[in-house]
Amino acid sequence: MKKLLVPTFLFAVATAFSQRQQIDFANKYAQDITASGLKEKLSVIASAEMEGRETATPGQRRAAAYIENHFQKLGLLPGTTSGYQMQFPVYQDTLIETGLQVNGKMYRLDDSFSLDIASAANGSYNINEIVFASYGIVDSSRNDYKDFNIKGKWVLIFEGMPDNEATLEKSSNYSNSMKVLQAKALGANGVFIMARDFVKKTTVNKKGRMYLKKIATESVPVITVTSDLAHELLGLNPARLLESIKNVPTGSYKSRVQFLINKRTLTLQSSNVVALLPGTDKKNEFVLITSHYDHLGVKDKEIYYGADDDGSGTTGVLQIAQAFAKAKNEGHGPRRSIVFMTVSGEEKGLLGSEFYSEHPAFPLTKTTVDLNIDMVGRIDPDYKGDSSNYLYIIGDDKLSSNLRPVTDSINKRYLNLQLDRRFNDLNDSNRYYYRSDHYNFAKNGVPVIFYFNGTHADYHRPTDTVDKIKFDLMAKRLKLVFFTAWEMSNRNEMMTRDITLQQ
Ligand SMILES: [Zn+2]
Repeated sequence: MKKLLVPTFLFAVATAFSQRQQIDFANKYAQDITASGLKEKLSVIASAEMEGRETATPGQRRAAAYIENHFQKLGLLPGTTSGYQMQFPVYQDTLIETGLQVNGKMYRLDDSFSLDIASAANGSYNINEIVFASYGIVDSSRNDYKDFNIKGKWVLIFEGMPDNEATLEKSSNYSNSMKVLQAKALGANGVFIMARDFVKKTTVNKKGRMYLKKIATESVPVITVTSDLAHELLGLNPARLLESIKNVPTGSYKSRVQFLINKRTLTLQSSNVVALLPGTDKKNEFVLITSHYDHLGVKDKEIYYGADDDGSGTTGVLQIAQAFAKAKNEGHGPRRSIVFMTVSGEEKGLLGSEFYSEHPAFPLTKTTVDLNIDMVGRIDPDYKGDSSNYLYIIGDDKLSSNLRPVTDSINKRYLNLQLDRRFNDLNDSNRYYYRSDHYNFAKNGVPVIFYFNGTHADYHRPTDTVDKIKFDLMAKRLKLVFFTAWEMSNRNEMMTRDITLQQ
């Protein structure tokens, strides 16, 4: 008993000493995350020269080159065997022709219906039966398909959610794509969506959205229709009003519909920029720090600068990498390796992070956490507390029970930001948990934290510019990411994975 006392005591002193030291070092290197350093980098990333950084454009490639150059100058290692840039193909279609004939009458594209060009494989489709399934919702409280077998059939559903329930209008595209996935999972051959408010276009849009995989096996044709056309599809009198279709019984309707599509698919290239800071005694375990460097590009000659979304997160990754590189150079590098990754394709549907999660440069089972930064430079005008000292935290209770306690204790020790988790609920109508790159890691079991300032009037507008960024607040928020990464790369154990979640 006695014999053991002495070494245990010494060990405790040594541990306390090194913990004190760790805190001092963390504080020292966090000083490198300065408002001026952030401003300098963001002024390049969100400059006119980068042309809004749209995926698979010259602007995106210029941004990638800038990021790569920064990682290289810091002395970080390339994250892939072929260099810092993990290239991946994205596909985009050009429509050659399409036709939709219902009961002998032809309907015009972008006048009576619109088409998700990416969703449909070339060919002509004969539709003899349509199942009308109300909103097409399948969740814990409701299943709009429970009385029907839709296998091999087309369905017609309403866009959005019923009016008396929490509305998903803000993210109606997303919820549409969820509904399509669910219908497809139940065996549907195609989906008609009746628009809440169909916007006719004078010029036909022939370019489809970008996607990651040859879509024919991934999706089924998705056609959005006016309420008149929805009535026609079911063989009802189109003169009936929008409201009336809600009184139409759900179920199977005989139909006489032909749909044809002919398109050409282009293969484009994009990239994630990945750099590695090797750890010491735990170098085969990884802390992943991510942001997306792509944005919306140029539309109608207007540049979408994306200073907050997500120039702010990207700048943050560069600056945090700089702080860790300095620590490493001075002999205080982390025990685990740190992977710094800025992805592209986020605005096209989280494509770059999905590609990485399917072709990880470092094993996901050995990735202790993904810290994802997407929009940290602005203030949510609806924020009710101290708007100069808050940050939304999403996802830190979903897969690991020790992630949130660590986050909170780190914050308390170093910063005292108001960490606000109002958007953390999976059922939150904004669905933020599903809307940035961390989701592709969470989906694969990696514990995640998503750092976010909320949206604002300039969100996804050309006015999301550098001059509106609050650099002091941004630096403080990024220090939280830095301190969290410091802790997670140096602690003895990886984050536990003890929660199984229905995501
Ligand atoms: Zn974003």
